[in-house]
Amino acid sequence: MPEFKILITDGLDESGLSILRGSASVDDRKDISADDLLKAIPNYDGLVVRGRTKVTASVMDAASRLTVIGRAGVGVDNIDLDAAKKHSITVVNAPMSTSLAVAELTFGLLLALARELPRADAGMKQGNWLKKELEGVELNGKTLGLIGFGRIGMEVGKHASAFGMNIVAYDPLISEDDIRQRGAEPISIQDLYAWSDFISLHLPLNVQTRDMIGSLAFSEMKDGVRIVCAARGGIIDEAELVKALNSGKVAGAALDVYGAEPPGLTEAVSHPRVIATPHIGAQTAEAQSRASEDIANEVLSALQNKPLRWKVS
Ligand code: NAD
Repeated sequence: MPEFKILITDGLDESGLSILRGSASVDDRKDISADDLLKAIPNYDGLVVRGRTKVTASVMDAASRLTVIGRAGVGVDNIDLDAAKKHSITVVNAPMSTSLAVAELTFGLLLALARELPRADAGMKQGNWLKKELEGVELNGKTLGLIGFGRIGMEVGKHASAFGMNIVAYDPLISEDDIRQRGAEPISIQDLYAWSDFISLHLPLNVQTRDMIGSLAFSEMKDGVRIVCAARGGIIDEAELVKALNSGKVAGAALDVYGAEPPGLTEAVSHPRVIATPHIGAQTAEAQSRASEDIANEVLSALQNKPLRWKVS
């Protein structure tokens, strides 16, 4: 009989499920409600989530035998880390698994913004030949400002180099030498706003970064800047973004993440100069398979008291 019981609440790629099933009893209850999670959690030693399940203090209060929570992906903002610490529950994630997928989506959004690809396609499907109206801009020779230069920001920088962009990066937690070694010019946030033709966000959401891209930041940016956010909703103040789009300060924005998800038809989502995608940064077959395998191995390591590679807390 398997010794450990593990609950999966947001689905998990088959490759990771089979790793877990080799050493534990696994219940796959995709889309479980918050109430049912509270009832079920006392039965489990491990919990594996993606971004949907909110692992709140109440869940952990009820989780009498839980020792590990695994996030199959990167962001752990849906897990109450203070409560996990209080209950001595280990939190692990799979931070390496999705970086390439998010970087590629970011690059797709940069190109889509530069050439207005969604508008071109929508025109064709309505029988409209918008050739004259669709004069875009080139990425080559433009300055790309990366805010946050960790795993994903660095990958975006590599793609941008290949497209002939000048890459500047603001990341207060990385030394200037490391930023240069990773292929970008270190820069203050004010200079990044002032110089960048394109800005892409790759930093976490926390108390310092919530609404960081708001009215003051927009006012410091170059006229006609284009912005991509595939990091976390809440970093861009969406109401201020709409104002900046309407005033022409921002020529276009592409959003993969939102303050509330799903956001519904907000002003930002329905704005004609916003390209909106439904948080698909990590949604590639390869990334999901990597995330699933990485988190399965990490959760089993935690349960078996083996060394951990990606302990968050
Ligand atoms: P990472 O930890 O490797 O890099 C984040 C970087 O942001 C770090 O280098 C950190 O020093 C920097 N940073 C922290 N505070 C900052 C601040 N105030 N200003 C500028 N930089 C700051 O993380 P990552 O794996 O590169 O992920 C980046 C973002 O992408 C995260 O928000 C993550 O949640 C998000 N993400 C989104 C998706 C998606 O589906 N769209 C998928 C995976 C990750």
